[in-house]
Amino acid sequence: MSYLDNYDIVIGLEIHAELHTKTKVFCACKNQFGDEPNTNTCPVCTGMPGALPVLNKHAVELAIKAGLSFGCDISPYSVFERKNYFYPDLSKAYQISQLVYPLCIGGKIELDSGKTIRLNRIHLEEDAGKLVHINKAVGTLVDYNRGGTPLIEMVTEPDFSSADEVVEFLKKVRESLVFEDIANCKMEEGGMRCDVNLSLKKKGDSEYGIRTEMKNLNSFKSVQRAIEYEAERQAEVLATGGHVVQETRKWDDASGQSYAMRSKEQAQDYRYFPDPDLLPVEIPSEEVARIKSEMVMLPQDRRKRYIEEFGLPEYDAGILTSTRYISDYFEKCVENFNAPKKISNWIMVDLLKLVKEQEEFEFPIDEKSLAGIVKMVEEKVINKTVGLQLLDKVIETGKDPLVLAKEMNLLVTISDDEILGLLRKLKSENVKVAEDYKNAPEKVVGFIVGYVMKNTGGKANSAKVRELIAKEFQ
Ligand code: ADP
Ligand code: MG
Ligand code: ZN
Repeated sequence: MSYLDNYDIVIGLEIHAELHTKTKVFCACKNQFGDEPNTNTCPVCTGMPGALPVLNKHAVELAIKAGLSFGCDISPYSVFERKNYFYPDLSKAYQISQLVYPLCIGGKIELDSGKTIRLNRIHLEEDAGKLVHINKAVGTLVDYNRGGTPLIEMVTEPDFSSADEVVEFLKKVRESLVFEDIANCKMEEGGMRCDVNLSLKKKGDSEYGIRTEMKNLNSFKSVQRAIEYEAERQAEVLATGGHVVQETRKWDDASGQSYAMRSKEQAQDYRYFPDPDLLPVEIPSEEVARIKSEMVMLPQDRRKRYIEEFGLPEYDAGILTSTRYISDYFEKCVENFNAPKKISNWIMVDLLKLVKEQEEFEFPIDEKSLAGIVKMVEEKVINKTVGLQLLDKVIETGKDPLVLAKEMNLLVTISDDEILGLLRKLKSENVKVAEDYKNAPEKVVGFIVGYVMKNTGGKANSAKVRELIAKEFQ
């Protein structure tokens, strides 16, 4: 029996993802993680007086793509506002963000259970710099490289009721953003982070309770643990007659606890107002249509297509859509030779093992060549073992598989007479086989084919062999 048994958990998320642009959102500095501190900076992103921001079009396009990925409406008119607060990593003393007129409105993502999580909005804003705490003697240093890099913030409605739902949702969001190359979402680099708003309500109640907010969780594990801890904590407060205080809490992974940072009374008034240095963004519907036409099919839609149209098992569809690269590769192979399941087998069994443990890879053979080999095997011009030898050789030489197969004499097929000769030899040496064949052909045909293959180095065409067996063993 836990205090939580009497309550439903209610969670809403605010997710930040760093956009994959070359340059920052309001200046031409590089948007690059891991460079020497303060090397990617300029008067604009360090907030020098009089410096003027210029909006990065690519950042807007990526934010729109994010919106289109999740079914948002793209606003024809949106406004950048200044969110005023002081912090050492924010040299302007305001962050350029959006409040009243965000770029994307609404939207939704469906969980595997069929439950829908509604999005409230997605807006575009700039990131702050980073404080680096050295030690007591040196103190804290500031790195402004991240300052001014583009972020999208996605805000959901309070539709989640468990940590599992939240983690599944975050994985889906990450998958879509990475697939479309909108964001890298490298969580260990802070490329995707999430604020969790959580409240409880008595089971059956319709009114929401008071919520707390845990900021900047940057791994699925800490999201999971923070939610479980906070739900238990609130349940105990409520069940023992207390009140949940609306506050920001910090999750500490090391201790496995959260603690209060500031309450609502201490919360700042950001005094948002439209940034006078930036014009409102107007996006004609033709522009949205153009951006949409450049987008690829999302992984969940591709999975559906692979299962329904190509007849692949769910397992195959999952692996083949695990990255955009594999999925594009697979589809291109299928365009070259329309045998999706066969292609899938080759990729999953024979190609992936060649690149295993590499985080970023390209298969060492192009799509057309792989499709060519699979085709030869399927048309029984060569058998699978020879196909694998051919694969190695194509990888080694980069030559066309058919040309190579001819050069290597792999295509030599055994003549009908040779096959017949072998069948007659078998018949005379092994009388039982012939008898067994008469009684139950299907039981021994495999054995006979095997015999021919063994004696021809696997080069006989197995369909042909079966045809001749039927003749010879009648
Ligand atoms: P604020 O403007 O104070 O940040 P919002 O209305 O923008 O508040 O909500 C911020 C986040 O908090 C959203 O993700 C929303 O879904 C979530 N949220 C709002 N009310 C609750 C609640 N009672 N319990 C849990 N989450 C909530
Ligand atoms: Mg908020
Ligand atoms: Zn700059």
